[in-house]
Amino acid sequence: MKRICFIGLGIMGKPMAINLIKAGYSLQVYDRNPPKVEAVASAGARGCSSIKEAVEGCDYIITMLPNSPHVKSVVLGEDGVAENAKKGALLIDMSSIAPSASREIHDELKKRGIRMLDAPVSGGEPKAIDGTLAIMAGGDEKDFEEARELFDVLGSSAVLVGPVGSGNTCKLANQIIVALNIAAVSEGLMLARRAGADVEKVFMAIRNGLAGSTVMNAKVPMILEGNFKPGFRIDLHIKDLANALDTGLNTNTPLPLTAEVMQMMQVLKIDGEEKSDHSALMKYYEKLTGTRVRKE
Ligand code: NAD
Repeated sequence: MKRICFIGLGIMGKPMAINLIKAGYSLQVYDRNPPKVEAVASAGARGCSSIKEAVEGCDYIITMLPNSPHVKSVVLGEDGVAENAKKGALLIDMSSIAPSASREIHDELKKRGIRMLDAPVSGGEPKAIDGTLAIMAGGDEKDFEEARELFDVLGSSAVLVGPVGSGNTCKLANQIIVALNIAAVSEGLMLARRAGADVEKVFMAIRNGLAGSTVMNAKVPMILEGNFKPGFRIDLHIKDLANALDTGLNTNTPLPLTAEVMQMMQVLKIDGEEKSDHSALMKYYEKLTGTRVRKE
């Protein structure tokens, strides 16, 4: 059985690593936060205290880290993955980072004979736990096919979008669509509430029509309960929209709606909501109107 190194055991990485253990893989795990390592070690992994130790002898290295600088530092930094992985190993970076950073990391690894896929995911913590993530990958087809057995454990779909960087380009599109969808749901429900409608009944009435969406079904119950526990944090979504706006600049692509929702998220961050779920976009509308949509 091939050996897997898993680095980054946060909200997403922990359940993903545990699913691989349950599927019978032998895992060596590392996170800079030692209690997170202990939590996955107690589920059957070998807990490691350095990247070097975690990478040793592994065929596959999976990273699930916050953003481009974290992945660059773990992979290309001193005593990192590049310096310690065996030749021919396959890095599968499942973090959501800038496509340009994926390409940069790939080019450096190639010089050392280490292969790479960028393979960010959509679905959030519940789907990470269920092993039903949507995986969007970039890289060589042969490497993608080799990684498919792992993707089958972690997700319910895996699509090779194109060369390295394409997975993260796809993820940026995904993040724009999710953010704008939550904002649209918040705006629509706020109007319904202020115009005197029962918001829960509005949700029941429209969820199976054209306005219905996975985002609506996942987030409206949270909004109605006033439960903004992440899930997917505002600060991570700000990171993704910043990467999207940056990529928009680099590709001469106007993103007016993305820029607008980014400003709403910035307001929420100033209000101390950066660790709240992104469904807290409703709080932006609650602040504007002084009206609460959630059930009291
Ligand atoms: P998280 O902050 O919960 O976890 C990140 C982990 O990385 C933490 O445990 C942290 O200690 C570790 N880490 C950071 N820098 C490190 C370093 N230099 N060395 C070792 N460990 C380090 O974040 P998350 O929610 O698990 O998200 C991870 C990635 O997945 C992000 O790119 C995010 O955008 C993406 N993502 C998250 C969700 C979600 O719903 N949470 C959904 C889809 C995609």
